Amino acid sequence: MKPRFAGKVAVVTGAGRPGGIGEAIARRITSEGGRCAVLDLCRQRADVPRERFADIDMLRGVATSLGEVGRPGLAIRCDVTEEADVRRAMQQVGDELGGIDILFANAGGGTGAGPVDQTPVSELDRKDWDYTVELSLTSVFLCAKHAVAAMRSRHGGAIVSTTSISAYHGVAGLSAYSAAKQAVSALTRSLALELADKGIRVNAFAPGITLTPYVRQRYEALAAERQDRSASELMQQFIAQRIPLGRAAQPAEMASVAAFLASDDASFMTGQTLFVDGGMRV
Ligand code: NAD
Repeated sequence: MKPRFAGKVAVVTGAGRPGGIGEAIARRITSEGGRCAVLDLCRQRADVPRERFADIDMLRGVATSLGEVGRPGLAIRCDVTEEADVRRAMQQVGDELGGIDILFANAGGGTGAGPVDQTPVSELDRKDWDYTVELSLTSVFLCAKHAVAAMRSRHGGAIVSTTSISAYHGVAGLSAYSAAKQAVSALTRSLALELADKGIRVNAFAPGITLTPYVRQRYEALAAERQDRSASELMQQFIAQRIPLGRAAQPAEMASVAAFLASDDASFMTGQTLFVDGGMRV
């Protein structure tokens, strides 16, 4: 059987951190015959000191390591919250790889009221709200806006966004992130209707707790604050209380769902958000 992504070009945002969901998506698509452009911020931000971002060496490392399972990736530095950067990056992918078939709008996160750093609304700084909404929601709008032109020239495609299970239940201290991620599902539905007649399907998936550097960072920060339990004890406690399957997910388990949504196996699905949460929402 022909590999599912043979001849396809995919853009994966937020793919610069080894061990992250974006890297796992790029690896999966490459291993099934696709060619990937991997995008990441590639700088640290003084305005959000508790978040960690990929640097250019990490991103290049991810792009090169794709060569272990298929063709090496194209590494592009791109701040997904900056329209000029996103326009330039999508243009570069079109020029160097011949077009775009699939966009994985995966970069996301937040600060203040995000998963790394949680604050109640009454104490939340406006700039932390704005930062989180820009990174987790506006970025999806910008990437879709500038990828669609390249997809049209290929007569169709797929957009798959990474939202979060925390968009679907209340989480104290996570207001901006959960609101932004819920809005990604709303954007997914509108885009699906706008793009259906162009042969572009638009879906999202909502990960539950997944063992990435981002999540480890969150539990390490919590453990440092509380000082009564280690990061892994705190994570185990959460898992035992909340996840029926009794464990956190591996990034590859998110990548397999993202790949399904991007593939022809999901050819009659559009406008949907799939929960990938070990049963949390059952
Ligand atoms: P990650 O840290 O590996 O991924 C986020 C990536 O986005 C990083 O590489 C970071 O450098 C990049 N990034 C941040 N700001 C950027 C910007 N302005 N421009 C470009 N890139 C930027 O963490 P992850 O856990 O793999 O998260 C991937 C996605 O999954 C995120 O959208 C996150 O919100 C979502 N998610 C993760 C979990 C989980 O448990 N890990 C759960 C639900 C949702």
